[in-house]
Amino acid sequence: MKNRLFALFVGLLMVGCGEEEQVALIEAKDDPSIPKAIPCEVCGKDVSKRSTSCPNCGHPTSASLVAYKKAQELSQAKAREEQRLLDEKRKQAEELIRSSTPKEYSRNFQAEERFRQAISRLEDGLVANNALGLESAAIAQANLIDELQSKFKLTVTKEEIQMLVHWRDFSQGENYLEFLSKILGQLHLTGVIKSPSADQKFISEANATARIDSMMEDLVDRLVVISGISEGLRFNLDPKKLEKDYPELARYLRELHVDIENDEPFPEEGLVLRNLIDSSDENASLAARHFRDKLVSVFSAFARKGLFLRTIDEAATLEAQQRAIEAIDL
Ligand SMILES: [Zn+2]
Repeated sequence: MKNRLFALFVGLLMVGCGEEEQVALIEAKDDPSIPKAIPCEVCGKDVSKRSTSCPNCGHPTSASLVAYKKAQELSQAKAREEQRLLDEKRKQAEELIRSSTPKEYSRNFQAEERFRQAISRLEDGLVANNALGLESAAIAQANLIDELQSKFKLTVTKEEIQMLVHWRDFSQGENYLEFLSKILGQLHLTGVIKSPSADQKFISEANATARIDSMMEDLVDRLVVISGISEGLRFNLDPKKLEKDYPELARYLRELHVDIENDEPFPEEGLVLRNLIDSSDENASLAARHFRDKLVSVFSAFARKGLFLRTIDEAATLEAQQRAIEAIDL
């Protein structure tokens, strides 16, 4: 009888609890991720994880535990997959921001200000030189070149100074240095960078220098060669100084001097460089054109010394990217 009962008990155990379920039951007791009460797999009512069966429907708790564990693993795997997709999406969004956020550029205010001061000093020097005799003017010029270099890091050559003496020989009070400051001020305000990408509002260095060149061409055409009758016919270009490099232009100007001395008709408003270029005297016209090209190239090259490109501000760019990354809303 005892043996039969024992056999029956073992049989029941084998039917009711498979090996898997036995293990589940033992582990579940100590598994902190499984709450003390779990829903019965069949009726859904709460059963204690330590009980053997559901008090409501009699369903074995081990089976409910296995079902609970399976459901738990499934939902954890689902959550992990969702997180992985979210991480992937965030990574892509961050990469997009890092590659597409416009860069921040900073102006070189210090160099701009130094150039402005150098121009002011240059202007004073040119004005002062004007009142000096040839010999002392040459000494003062050399001193000016040295001072601009040492004090303002501005390199000016003797050849440039010889052209810059014409800085205020323009009609209606226009002058080169003022013109230069104005255009550089505009360019610095707009912002010039080496090569802007499509998302930048700045202009490229090539465009900026082309703009300077074209403005210098316009200006130099208006260089007053001989001022008007009402201004006393002042000669701004000295044939003696042009003799060596532009002999045809020097000859033409000498002839003009003679004509004026002989009271021959002369345009009341005077003559600008453009008039000489348009002259019917082909040799003089060609020489005037060469002189103009030289003046334009010196004026442009000098102006470009004051063009300070904006540089990438790495720290500000990273900050801007970080701000954009923090604002990502997935
Ligand atoms: Zn139940």
